Amino acid sequence: MRLLLKNGQVYQNNSFINADVLIEGQKIKAIGKLNCNVDREIDVTGKIVVPGLVDVHVHYRDPGLTYKEDVHTGTMAAAHGGFTTTCAMANVDPVPNTPELIRQMMAHNRQTGVVHVYQYAPITADLTSDQLIDYQAMYQLGVCGFSNDGHGVQHGGTMYKAMQGIQAVGLPLAEHVEDDSLKFNGVMNEGANAEKLGLDGIPGECETSQLARDLVLVAKTGVHYHVCHVSTKESVKLIRIAKSMGINVTCEAAPHHLLLNDGMITSDDAYYKMNPPLRTAEDQEALIEGLLDGTIDMIATDHAPHADDEKLHGMVGAAFGITGSETAFSSLYTKLVKTGKCKLEQLINWMTIQPAKLFGLNRAGMLQIGDAADIAVFDCDHAFKFREEDYLSKGRNTPFTNQQLYGQTVMTIVDGEIKYQREKEL
Ligand SMILES: [Zn+2]
Repeated sequence: MRLLLKNGQVYQNNSFINADVLIEGQKIKAIGKLNCNVDREIDVTGKIVVPGLVDVHVHYRDPGLTYKEDVHTGTMAAAHGGFTTTCAMANVDPVPNTPELIRQMMAHNRQTGVVHVYQYAPITADLTSDQLIDYQAMYQLGVCGFSNDGHGVQHGGTMYKAMQGIQAVGLPLAEHVEDDSLKFNGVMNEGANAEKLGLDGIPGECETSQLARDLVLVAKTGVHYHVCHVSTKESVKLIRIAKSMGINVTCEAAPHHLLLNDGMITSDDAYYKMNPPLRTAEDQEALIEGLLDGTIDMIATDHAPHADDEKLHGMVGAAFGITGSETAFSSLYTKLVKTGKCKLEQLINWMTIQPAKLFGLNRAGMLQIGDAADIAVFDCDHAFKFREEDYLSKGRNTPFTNQQLYGQTVMTIVDGEIKYQREKEL
């Protein structure tokens, strides 16, 4: 099969060129002004043609919680958002503590996923214990890293030993930093807005104090420590200092923390409940600054689908988390690029080459002749809105529904095959 994407704005070496992209089989065969016989030609005039997006933080709830999402629907949602590579967290049921369970999940990801899915193994057994898992065996199976996401590692001694073990295999340790003893059963950010709504707050120190502990241990162990969903300005500051000291730390910010803040929560609406919570406008600004100066390395969605009855009855008792795969690019494009806060090229890099490079994900994140044809095509010129019925995820828990956005996904190609195509073009 030879497929030609004709006349797009193609992302090459940090800029856009007007070009065609020829795909043959699973690979990119040529990029340039091309005249050739093909099986199918698709006119992408005026659209941007970029490397398939890469998301190092998604929750597919599979196995065990598939009423919320499964690998098939989760990856359909990824393709709908322009993602061609994702990394699935390990907070499923059962938690994959053993190589055998990881092997089964990886096989299931391959069989039912429509995009490339990498798998995290946990840091400790059951995500909450102090019992380390067999990092070497997991590494040999090909996991992308280790994470207890959803839970922080509570004890410094456990974290220290985990860092030593994970450093020895050379994979990232992706940490959800959260000191349980500082959470105080909160449901949103501590402060005036929580008080106004009569809801219990989660202080920023809950994240930042454990981050400080971990950075001290990273300095000693040298492990590649990756901070999941950074949310406070103090965390950004700490990471900036750590990087300047040569400490081996990378981090991600989530679209919702970059685009929303707790002042936007005007009612007891669980679509604004996530962990870490939306912080203040000042924190939000610090995250954007952190991205711009390279302190924050990448954007990852923390796609966290839930069933309606877990999210529609107010914050107290609701599950933490919102979906992100489908809305990430368009919401970020609309609110960061169109407003002039960053350049489109920067946004593309934070969502492609940066995560792929820092997580060692096998040539993902680039458009190069001879590479796998993992490509996303976006329409940045026309406004659109997500309606609830548009989502391919089982979860509809996002505050971005019905907002006027730009940057709609036109098409997503994985290994040369079209996995998502907007109806209009069919
Ligand atoms: Zn998390």
